[in-house]
Amino acid sequence: MPTPVPEPCRLCGGATTHAFTTRDHNRAIADEAYHYRRCADCGVLGLANVPEDLSRFYAEEYFALPTLEVMREKAVAERYRVDLVQRHVGGGRLIEIGPGDGLFTLNALDAGFDVTAIEMDRAAAEHLRSTTGIEVIESAAPHEALADLRPADVVVGWHVIEHLPQPWKMLDAAAAALRPGGVVVLAAPNPQSLGLRVLGRRWPHVDAPRHLFLLPPATIIERGRALGLEPAQLTATDPGGILLNRIAWRYALHKSGSRWWRMRLAHCAGDAMTALLAPVERAAMRGAAYTLVLRKP
Ligand SMILES: [Zn+2]
Repeated sequence: MPTPVPEPCRLCGGATTHAFTTRDHNRAIADEAYHYRRCADCGVLGLANVPEDLSRFYAEEYFALPTLEVMREKAVAERYRVDLVQRHVGGGRLIEIGPGDGLFTLNALDAGFDVTAIEMDRAAAEHLRSTTGIEVIESAAPHEALADLRPADVVVGWHVIEHLPQPWKMLDAAAAALRPGGVVVLAAPNPQSLGLRVLGRRWPHVDAPRHLFLLPPATIIERGRALGLEPAQLTATDPGGILLNRIAWRYALHKSGSRWWRMRLAHCAGDAMTALLAPVERAAMRGAAYTLVLRKP
């Protein structure tokens, strides 16, 4: 069903066309139809009808915040993220946007970074403060919070930019917050993925209505260049990207609330698809998610 009123891209003002209509397949919090439009100029896919109160779509996000002991156990599997950061900047001051369960925060602290976090969820912010002792700014507008913080060597956002109503303001503020030689590290779902091409509106990483924009990495790189940032790394085959390939195929094949044996069957079929498609998904930036590093010279 096409959206009735054509509207300009909220990021660049370019002309958009209807891409697909979907629902909240991942969490089924509301039974609304969500329309995504693609910009002919910047290539961004944007949610046209953003719900007024987005917070209700995150209500159950942090229902089980782990103890420090459990965080430490879980954080081991995510070490690759801090390893990736340290290929570019070995240490110093790091600002994390949207730490959520705090696993990266913990790894960054263990690697010797001086970490400050910006988190929109009150419970998650308090949890991170009490478990790690770091400074956590509670804010849903990271560009405003960044402007008030001391300069940093690293600004990271793991799967955050797609949730922000004003992603360019965040990138602008991140670029301004960096010291020379510092990096912005962003991971996000990939609108040029094989998964989105094949599954369309059923691709689990559309995650309507929580994902407001799906940004092609080239579009972020171009915006970064205008801010004086140079691309330093782009990958869709880091361990996180590869995991999200598998998650996409698994969850595309069952509905939430399915019986356990149907879920199991869907997961097995999803794993078979993942193995079959690995040569395509792992080539030419066709993976489910990318990680992009931009450096301030
Ligand atoms: Zn645009």
